[in-house]
Amino acid sequence: MAYAYDDQNIFAKILRGEIPNNTVKETDHTLAFKDIHPQAPDHVLVIPKGSYVTADDFALSASDAEIIDFWRVFGEICTKLGVSPDNGNGYRIISNAGEDGVQEVPHFHMHILAGRPLGRMLQPA
Ligand code: 5GP
Repeated sequence: MAYAYDDQNIFAKILRGEIPNNTVKETDHTLAFKDIHPQAPDHVLVIPKGSYVTADDFALSASDAEIIDFWRVFGEICTKLGVSPDNGNGYRIISNAGEDGVQEVPHFHMHILAGRPLGRMLQPA
C-alpha cells in the first residue's frame, strides 16, 4: 500500500458495521451508500472495501478485480438512479484527495452527484 491507512476513519467503521449506513449496493469488493449530508437530490458514495486512502492509491495498489468491480458498481448505480445522459439528465463524479482536494475522510471514495443542474466544475479559489 502506498499510503498509511487510518483504520479509525468513519468509512472503515461503516465497513466494519460499527456505524449504520444507507446502502445502495454492496458486492464482495465495493460498497455504495447515501451521503449523510447530500449536496444534490442524488448523492451516493462509492468506496472499495479495501484499505485505500485516495484514488491514486487505489489505482496503483488495488487488484484488477477490485478496480473492475468498483467501476461496474459505479455504472450500475448510474443506471439505477436513471442519470446516465443516455436516458437521464447526467451526473458529476468527484473524488477529493489530500489537503488541496479538501478530503475529509481518508478512505478512498467517489461522490456521485445528480438530480439537479450542478453548475460549473469549480468555484474560484
Ligand atoms: P470528502 O470531503 O472526504 O470528499 O467527503 C466525505 C463525505 O462523507 C462528505 O460528503 C460527508 O457528508 C460524508 N460523510 C461523513 N460522515 C459520514 C457518515 O457517517 N455517513 C455517511 N453516509 N456519510 C458521511
